[in-house]
Amino acid sequence: MDYDVLVLGGGIIGCSVAYGLSKYNLNIAVIEKDYDIADDISLVNTEVVFDGTECEDDLISKLEHMGNSMLDEITAKFNVPFKRTGSLRVADSDVAVKILEQTYERAKRRGINNVYLMEPSEVYDLEPNLNIDFKKALYSPNTGVVAPYDLALAYAEVAFDNGATFKLEEKVLDIKKIVNGFKVITNKNKFTCKVVVNTTPGEYNIIEKNTEVNEINTRDIHYLIMNDKVKNFSKSIVTKVDEEGDTIKYIPGVIGTSLIAVNKKGTFKFSEAINLANKLVYDFNKDMVNSIYHDKFNDDLIIIDDNEHYDGYIKVAGNNYATVTMTPAISNMICETIVNNLGCSLNKSFVDKRRDYYRFKEMSNNEINEIISVDPRYGKMVCICNLISEGEIVDSIRRPLGARTVEGVKRRTGATFGKCHGAHCIDKIIYILARELNKKPTEIVEDSKNSKVLASRIKEFEKM
Ligand SMILES: Cc1cc2nc3c(=O)[nH]c(=O)nc-3n(C[C@H](O)[C@H](O)[C@H](O)COP(=O)(O)OP(=O)(O)OC[C@H]3O[C@@H](n4cnc5c(N)ncnc54)[C@H](O)[C@@H]3O)c2cc1C
Repeated sequence: MDYDVLVLGGGIIGCSVAYGLSKYNLNIAVIEKDYDIADDISLVNTEVVFDGTECEDDLISKLEHMGNSMLDEITAKFNVPFKRTGSLRVADSDVAVKILEQTYERAKRRGINNVYLMEPSEVYDLEPNLNIDFKKALYSPNTGVVAPYDLALAYAEVAFDNGATFKLEEKVLDIKKIVNGFKVITNKNKFTCKVVVNTTPGEYNIIEKNTEVNEINTRDIHYLIMNDKVKNFSKSIVTKVDEEGDTIKYIPGVIGTSLIAVNKKGTFKFSEAINLANKLVYDFNKDMVNSIYHDKFNDDLIIIDDNEHYDGYIKVAGNNYATVTMTPAISNMICETIVNNLGCSLNKSFVDKRRDYYRFKEMSNNEINEIISVDPRYGKMVCICNLISEGEIVDSIRRPLGARTVEGVKRRTGATFGKCHGAHCIDKIIYILARELNKKPTEIVEDSKNSKVLASRIKEFEKM
């Protein structure tokens, strides 16, 4: 066999499974069709770490709760930003109060501790700046915010450093059952393996049982992303719940930004989202919005299908708004199954550490100056909105599974996400990428093969 385990799809689940399996003596590869891993983590991922209180389904609740409780250790180990901000669900009508009370009872029945029904006066003790009218609130200190893309990268970097292979730009076309394993056919290769973990939505020739999870999606969600936190509002995530189950959610992001997510039945426009956002944050206006994003609200069940017909074929199916939260629990279950079935031994040389990197926003001036004195590139600002230096961009390219595209640099460093949307720094990023990758600037792509950023050279400009 070419591999013990082939993980199909390099999203957060695929990367986390590769990390979990790299602790054992296994020959693992991740096959990802895109130029980069975790490309499908939406740029406006709301970053929320749920606690199992808000969802209808008991299994999803359990996975959220398990994932939530594992994230302190994982994020601390990988130096991934994570903050337990706590969350408040507020209701301003009797029907909505009833919904909160039912949610509270359900949380208790599910064994979720530290969830409290509160009167407004108790909430104002907790959040003195919260300037909204409501009758009752449900408070959970368990909830938080995490940097999801950074978490996926961390999983992948550690897996890579411990021997997992990542095959990027390779699309799985089919999977066939063979004696004692599987044959995975891609656009470039044919691989054999003992176990397949399929995290892609692809339905291949393998019989897949019970993976029909897509229900008709009837909810729209608009995200209004701001550069800063709303001043004098709340440190906690605040969700206003109405009688129809529609929600308006304020999320203070883990790194500086914040957003309001408006989730409502049916389709609705940006202008309506702004009006609804005002019902939660009274002085909110569209000038506070840096960018917007609109999507369908996904609350599929997540199904981990250990196919009974094909021993060794595990499919993860379903699109859920809390997948990042559930990932540590999902990947633990998958890894345990594989390790037990294959009788794996521990990889004694496994190093459970991510290579260091500098996050200047969290460092003191003295610490920053010390680094600049060693490497002056850390003193050259490339993105002046978000204060990202050349040193950080070079590091994002040279790291394990480093950035090869403009999008890869943006996501890894946060460059271009400021007020100017890259007008000042995008060409500098292209030049740094070209220099580091030994390519011409005109060969640098946005995020995929056919997405060149510069169409051609302008001969009047010396560098371009
Ligand atoms: C707007 C938005 C906000 C969200 N907010 C939150 C939140 O606040 N909290 C939370 O917990 N979760 C949140 N989520 C959920 C979470 O971000 C996603 O569900 C999660 O990233 C999905 O990860 P995945 O690994 O399951 O799938 P994906 O990231 O989709 O990974 C699958 C991978 O498979 C690859 N692939 C597909 N087909 C093939 C093929 N044929 N061959 C090879 N590779 C292939 C894809 O390129 C992709 O990289 C949010 C999602 C969205 C969209």
